[in-house]
Amino acid sequence: MDYDTYGSTAVELAIELANADRSDPEWARRFLASHDDWFTPGTPLELSPGETHKAGATAEIVRAVALAETQDDVLARLNQLLAIARPRPYATDHDGELHLHYARPDAPVLEQLTTTVAMGLSQVVVQHGWQRLGVCSAENCDDVYVDTSRNASRRYCSNTCASRSTVAAYRARQKT
Ligand SMILES: [Zn+2]
Ligand SMILES: [Zn+2]
Repeated sequence: MDYDTYGSTAVELAIELANADRSDPEWARRFLASHDDWFTPGTPLELSPGETHKAGATAEIVRAVALAETQDDVLARLNQLLAIARPRPYATDHDGELHLHYARPDAPVLEQLTTTVAMGLSQVVVQHGWQRLGVCSAENCDDVYVDTSRNASRRYCSNTCASRSTVAAYRARQKT
């Protein structure tokens, strides 16, 4: 899987948005602040309660795409996400590497977020298949992931969940 392209790394932003803990009313502002390297420098990161709600809705759609079990469902949900994106691609080398950005640089932060997430997720799905997206197999975890492994063998959202599950399986075997 070509993981060097912006398209592939932007999907990580989508996954992190889908997995963000939204119990705190200020979650979106905190999420934007901890991912501010995705946005044009100087973009105000404040969101109104209505915009925070929209960011949460975007997170839900990303999650729904990852959870979908048929290609028809994936397409319907992906198109729902793309419908709220406002792509205006442009080329940049702001980090030293020539690559494409999807949102116009002067767009409000919510538009930059939604567009980057929608385009990043869609690129991976159309280029590498929707089976690359999944939900963590660990007990008590329902985080979603994108599988960038060569043989598409990933089952857990993180190394933490993978090793926790390995230990649990080992203990279960010891008991029997
Ligand atoms: Zn960039
Ligand atoms: Zn997990």
